[in-house]
Amino acid sequence: MFPEFSLRYARLPDRFFLRFDPVPVPAPRLVAFNRPLAETLGFDLAAFDEARAADWFAGNAVPEGSEPVAQAYAGHQFGHFNPRLGDGRAVLLGEVVDREGRLRDIQLKGAGMTPFSRGADGRAPLGPVLREYLVSEAMHRLGVPTTRALAAVTSGERVFRRVPEPGAVLTRVAASHLRVGTFQYFAARDDVEAVRTLADMAIERHYSPLAEREGQERYLALLEAVAERQAALVAKWMGLGFIHGVMNTDNCSIAGETIDYGPCAFMEAYSPTMVFSSIDEQGRYAYRNQPWIAQWNLARLAETLIPLIDDDQEAAIARATRVIEAYEPRYEAEWLAVFREKLGLARKEEGDRALAEAFLEALAAGRADFTLAFRRLAEAVEADAPALLELFEDGGALGDWLPRWRERLARESASPEAIAARMNAVNPLYIPRNHQVERVIAAAAEHDDFAPFEALREVLAEPFTAQPGREAYAEPAPATERVLRTFC
Ligand code: AMP
Ligand code: MG
Ligand code: MG
Repeated sequence: MFPEFSLRYARLPDRFFLRFDPVPVPAPRLVAFNRPLAETLGFDLAAFDEARAADWFAGNAVPEGSEPVAQAYAGHQFGHFNPRLGDGRAVLLGEVVDREGRLRDIQLKGAGMTPFSRGADGRAPLGPVLREYLVSEAMHRLGVPTTRALAAVTSGERVFRRVPEPGAVLTRVAASHLRVGTFQYFAARDDVEAVRTLADMAIERHYSPLAEREGQERYLALLEAVAERQAALVAKWMGLGFIHGVMNTDNCSIAGETIDYGPCAFMEAYSPTMVFSSIDEQGRYAYRNQPWIAQWNLARLAETLIPLIDDDQEAAIARATRVIEAYEPRYEAEWLAVFREKLGLARKEEGDRALAEAFLEALAAGRADFTLAFRRLAEAVEADAPALLELFEDGGALGDWLPRWRERLARESASPEAIAARMNAVNPLYIPRNHQVERVIAAAAEHDDFAPFEALREVLAEPFTAQPGREAYAEPAPATERVLRTFC
């Protein structure tokens, strides 16, 4: 049933990882399985056997051909460099070639204490496993590059966080688990050859057209390509009100995927300074800082590549610096493209950025729900929509803005119906709202009831389509259920 492995990372020199078999759990039970994803990965589902699958996805049995490893990496955590993080609880089973011919990592998260555990228990509680499952799959359906969730199992043992919780293991699928922090691990050891090996692997796996570039050119081009993907990625997050929460360099993917769903959350009432994570005391990873943190992370990647870019260090620094500086206009262009679409604008006009910013100011002033305000804007293409207005505590700024927007829409060639339809195709109705995710987790963790998880998973599979009878899933949290703090 398991697809054939095509091992890559485990074939790198020894210093890239530690061989580590997942630590078995007492009573594995498969609580979620992503069949469509399994199919694209080449699983033989005709031979699907739930008990065997539970053993594999718990790490109790290692599938044939896998050579499990814990990957070595470093990282800046909240700005402070840690030269040795590594997979403290994750195990890479290996890579498979999916139906589209792409290499995909299959990793177990929560698979036991590895030599990188640094005193932590190597395990994952069910709540965060279900959150990552739901949110990463929702992000995929929302059109955001992301790691995927293949399976979740409960382990039959308790893990201790703020309170004892059921333990679980998540099976994560990624284009790769190469991180900025992976490069940093070797750069910090002056291991230029290892950095070159990683860079070549990143090019081969994620940026194959660059392989044709001459010698050192390809490494500057790699930096540029990673910067482009990060700019596009963060612009998409901004367009959804998504706050990652822990944008440390070890959580910054070279492939440009969203990775590591810890204390992440979607904003409800729009506020650019919004922070959810309980550990982000300074607001380093606040909504509005995300694009600049990505740039900071890219500068850390650039530092690791300097010896590869040019033998003349000063020349290398100058060239890398230009790439990092070019991120800013690149990001601004991506942001504008995202928000133009959200506002139903297909033409490009000079004043569009100001128009988008003015709408956001109206949202902030009115404490309006970010997701629903964009969604209901499609109802206001021709006339004021009461459903939009009622989202605003104070709709004064919106009242001034709507005529400006309609005047701008008049210069679009599409009909009002077509404009509304294309807005609804990019402005979701359903996002994984934190109070809904918390409800799902409580039912599963406290009552072993996974029906709410299944229901939410189904709703989030079609985020742009109104689903009759499921209106409640689109609503912001009632005041009593509002989630203001999230925990890793
Ligand atoms: P994160 O902040 O989630 O990116 O995790 C940072 C580091 O902590 C990574 O090296 C993780 O492998 C490690 N880590 C997080 N939780 C645990 C845990 N329960 N046991 C061992 N290592 C962990
Ligand atoms: Mg991480
Ligand atoms: Mg994490």
